[in-house]
Formats: sequence, C-alpha cells, structure tokens
Amino acid sequence: MARSIGPKCKLCRREGMKLFLKGERCLTEKCAVERRSYPPGEHGRGRIKQSEYLLQLREKQKARRYYGILEKQFRNYYEKAAKRSGITGEELLRMLETRLDNVVYRLGFAASRAQARQIIRHGHFQVNGRRVNIPSFQVRPNDVVSLRAGSPVEPVIRDATDLTASVSPWLQADHDNLTGKVLRLPERSDIDAPVQEQLIVELYSK
Ligand code: SF4
Repeated sequence: MARSIGPKCKLCRREGMKLFLKGERCLTEKCAVERRSYPPGEHGRGRIKQSEYLLQLREKQKARRYYGILEKQFRNYYEKAAKRSGITGEELLRMLETRLDNVVYRLGFAASRAQARQIIRHGHFQVNGRRVNIPSFQVRPNDVVSLRAGSPVEPVIRDATDLTASVSPWLQADHDNLTGKVLRLPERSDIDAPVQEQLIVELYSK
C-alpha cells in the first residue's frame, strides 16, 4: 500500500492550517501550526505570488493530504466522480468520505486517518462481519463496521474513542461495543473537510 511517509506537520504548515494528521498531538500546544504558522523551507516566510492555478493546486494538495491519498489514486477518484451524475466536486468528497479508513476515523475508532489505515491494513476491522483489510474499501448505507473479536488493538481503539468529541451525522457509533453503522451517504453539509472542491474540479478539468 503506497502512502506518504514524509513529515506530517510540514504538510499542515504548507497548507497553512491544521489537517489533524497526527492524532492526539494535534490537540496539544506542540502542534507545529500553532508554533510556526508559516510555510516550511528556506523561503517559507517570503512572499508568494498568488495565481488562480496556485489556488487550485493548493486546494487539491490540501484535500489529498487531509485524506492521506497519493496523486494517482486521487486523480482516479476525480475521474470516477466526473462520470457520476451528481455534482463532480461533491461526488469526489463523498467517495473520499466513504473510504473505510475515513469511516473508522470519523467513528472515533482511530486518532488519525493514518492510524485507522494501519489498523485496517493489519486486519483488525470487519464490515458486516467479514474481515476487510483494504483502507480504500467503500462503505455503503447500512454497513456495520466493527472491531474483530479478541483484537489486541482494542486498548488503542478505546484510547482513540476518548479523544472523540463528536461523530459525523451520517454515521452511528457505539463506543462501548466498538461498532459503528453507516446510516446514509454523506451530504456536502455533513462533510467538514476544509476544502473548496470546485477549485479541484477546475484544476483537473483544464
Ligand atoms: Fe498538523 Fe497535527 Fe502536526 Fe499540528 S500536530 S501540524 S495538526 S499534523
């Protein structure tokens, strides 16, 4: 499974906002965006000439980094979204939101999407009673996501649930039994990703 392995905090600083890529640390004063709120690198504090292309590019990079997806896979998501009958930008976000790693994170069973991805990859989660170890697995309404019985990562997941302030309205979580249900597909208003998806569509449709 290809994934980005570089320093995560640099990604947030590049986008100029907290993308919550590191779990509990993101909620503390150690967060790099709180301490150094300028882009990384030698010219981080220099002036950057803004352009339409740059805005679109940054928005796409932000979305990729927020969901932890590499360029090629992100482009594939866009192409699938463009073929759907709905609004392309919203369809793109809906596909990203319904990835199993995002759902596990949104249910509060992981402190970050990266942690969710690792736990899924190691086969600790099931969907409708069947083990699924593919982080990009797309969930559907009425799917039930649960931790495999006797999984050794249960304490890690219980720690993550303690950090969870709220669960997305299109999901239902049972933190005692470590199960969750997909109530429906998310609407745009349910998705709190800090992304202007229209700019991504403009970038890719050039
Ligand atoms: Fe981003 Fe979290 Fe690092 Fe802060 S601590 S810069 S939110 S990854």
